[in-house]
Amino acid sequence: MEISQCGQGVRVRDKETNKFATIKSADKSSGMVEIEFDSGGRAKVHPRRLDPLGDPPAPASTPAGKEPMHDCPKCAAKFPLAESTCPACGYKFAQPKSGGVPAIVKILIVLVILGGVGWAVWKYVLHEKLPF
Ligand SMILES: [Zn+2]
Repeated sequence: MEISQCGQGVRVRDKETNKFATIKSADKSSGMVEIEFDSGGRAKVHPRRLDPLGDPPAPASTPAGKEPMHDCPKCAAKFPLAESTCPACGYKFAQPKSGGVPAIVKILIVLVILGGVGWAVWKYVLHEKLPF
């Protein structure tokens, strides 16, 4: 999008991170806009990185049924899917675990351990008994 489209409160999607954000300010002299991600955090980016969402800023009271909602399993309150904590009782939905140790690292650790064990067996057990 262009800097001329970047007004305060305009909803955008950051093409690089695919995150939704709201424009906080547009600096026309530098051509950069400051955005605030829905997930938190701000960034100064070039408007070309942003896709306008077309929707006006969401009003404080979202009409029920428009937004995807889920039911709290504890108190049956309805609240937006974007929320992971029930506003009524504080029930926390399990978040998908991100990160962790990549499989390749686990494999490498196993290989190193096996290599060490193999080397120790060869050095202290087999080496004495074999003629080489
Ligand atoms: Zn609840």
